[in-house]
Amino acid sequence: MTETTRLAYDAVVIGAGGAGLRAAIEARLHGLRTAIVSKSLFGKAHTVMAEGGAAAALGNVASDDDWRVHFRDTIRGGKFLNDPRMAELHAREAPDRILELEYWGALFDRTEDGRISQRNFGGHEYPRLAHVGDRTGLEMIRTLQQRIVQLQQADAAEYGDPEAMLKVHAETTITELVTDNGRVAGAFGYLRDSGEFLLLESPVVILATGGIGRSFEVTSNSWEYTGDGHALALRAGAALINMEFVQFHPTGMVWPPSVRGILVTESVRGDGGVLRNSAGKRFMFDYVPEVFRAQYAESEEEADGWYTDPRNHRRPPELLPRDEVARAINTEVKEGRGSPHGGVFLDVSERLSAEEITRRLPSMYHQFKELADVDITAEPMEVGPTCHYVMGGVAVDAETGAASVPGLFAAGEVAGGMHGSNRLGGNSLSDLLVFGRRCGLGAAAYLDSLGADRPAVPAAAVAEAATAATAPLSRSEGDNPYLLHREIQRTMNDLVGIVRNGAEIEQAIARLEKLDARVAGVRVEGGRCYNPGWHLALDLRNMLLVSQAVARCALEREESRGGHTRDDFPRMSARWRRITLAARLDGSDVVVEHRRTPPMRRDLLALFERGELEKYLTEEELADGSPEDT
Ligand code: FAD
Repeated sequence: MTETTRLAYDAVVIGAGGAGLRAAIEARLHGLRTAIVSKSLFGKAHTVMAEGGAAAALGNVASDDDWRVHFRDTIRGGKFLNDPRMAELHAREAPDRILELEYWGALFDRTEDGRISQRNFGGHEYPRLAHVGDRTGLEMIRTLQQRIVQLQQADAAEYGDPEAMLKVHAETTITELVTDNGRVAGAFGYLRDSGEFLLLESPVVILATGGIGRSFEVTSNSWEYTGDGHALALRAGAALINMEFVQFHPTGMVWPPSVRGILVTESVRGDGGVLRNSAGKRFMFDYVPEVFRAQYAESEEEADGWYTDPRNHRRPPELLPRDEVARAINTEVKEGRGSPHGGVFLDVSERLSAEEITRRLPSMYHQFKELADVDITAEPMEVGPTCHYVMGGVAVDAETGAASVPGLFAAGEVAGGMHGSNRLGGNSLSDLLVFGRRCGLGAAAYLDSLGADRPAVPAAAVAEAATAATAPLSRSEGDNPYLLHREIQRTMNDLVGIVRNGAEIEQAIARLEKLDARVAGVRVEGGRCYNPGWHLALDLRNMLLVSQAVARCALEREESRGGHTRDDFPRMSARWRRITLAARLDGSDVVVEHRRTPPMRRDLLALFERGELEKYLTEEELADGSPEDT
């Protein structure tokens, strides 16, 4: 058996996106010797791709905004299935996290009076997204990395070694978590270039691995998003909640085929882009659901007035939450009113000058010019839904990010609860900062509580992880990993996609079950040096497991809500709102448990009109004024 390099830390953070970096900074600030591991190059996390901005009720552009309005918007967007404590902490703390980022050197766009500028986004009552053009994620990662380098420089001065307290293991993939009597003891993985094995011994592991989009055929997600953290958590004994809720962003590129799924930022609509079908109709007015009717414009005139006079006009329906817009586009295309390449038209040139478009949306301008030969300053884009974000993730404690497995924490897209059934745009970047920091703090407190009683890595676990990792290379027969990946993606796209029904989900579950044995017997040619086929083979079992969790939860939830639409159960049900589905592993089977959706405190419920609560809560919850028990 090949040798494994062993290193010891106080905390291992898996993932170097916004959540991972913010968690690592906090852990280090609390004296924990911390490792950051990333599958991709340092700096190339999903966060870097974020375009539109980070939502925080700073009130710079609309002085009426405050955390309560942000909280209310987030709960409305999630259709009351969010963990209310997480949504509260997020709304309360996001402004401080953005200001902290500025203090660390982030250069946000400015208002005329020199404060951080904020832009409109779907589902947010006020302009709320702090941004840097349409490259906000890049600035966020740059700033967090700069902060890490700053801490390393301080460590170099104090300990004579910049990596004494904070070390980055880039291009290193974790394949297994190691536990000792149910407690986290470390993480096992391999270096992508050499194929060498690495064991990071640590009583704390913080998962910050991002999403699961690569399990779907059309996605805005890049190659790393294979649900590794979700699968690692399941295999370590933690539960995943809300996995049936997958966000299909309404606007991905649809043409040419090679770029299908690449994101067209919501800022295009936030900055005035309108959606039209093949007949030129601004169709979103036909799709405003009853629960949102009071807040959205009924005519083009009213919607257009909102851009210059938001106090006296209601919002355009193009700015409804993403699930609503994605479903509307899906229906237009299915009913034959789509664009030539199977999308609809999104036009920002109707409202903004060419100069303003290239200034406010520079990446979008270049993206369309270079990839599709479309000049968005003069002509509409063709867009359609693309799998973008998973609301579901590891069940965690709102205050600390701790999962049910002692020593395991999760933050960012891999964690569940915060966004309920549908995330509002901009709420992910702020979520990463708020809960990344809280995970770092939670990890420090956990480590304190352990004292000298630290878990130890069982020798057998390391040998098992190494054998499992090399197995695809040593088989003489088996399926090709690329073909298996395609089958998973097609199954999820066609049968557990944007609109679902029971019969199709059952078909998907049967197909995924059949894939189980084939994925377990996958075969790869070549050796361990720079072998992408081998890397994919190891990712496949994560994608398969996560897909099974999504499909099983989707079958169980017999209603339509947020990022889960069933055409056999088209209505939202107050009874189902009280239930949060939790997926767990029982042996090798994914099982789904019903849990009570966490109740909302009375003072938070009071932020909503009773008429609105009646759309979501059961009659018994509303009766006798005991909302505390919702
Ligand atoms: P990521 O930033 O996804 O980082 C995950 C990290 O985990 C990476 O470093 C990866 O290499 C590592 N990793 C994964 N698996 C392993 C493993 N097995 N071993 C080791 N490392 C591993 N949200 C907003 O709020 N506003 C926006 O404007 C916005 N725009 C977006 C635009 C695009 C194109 C996309 C795709 C998303 C956008 N989002 C936006 C969503 C947001 O960017 C993501 O949800 C968020 O960045 C996720 O951050 P994270 O820290 O959880 O994980």
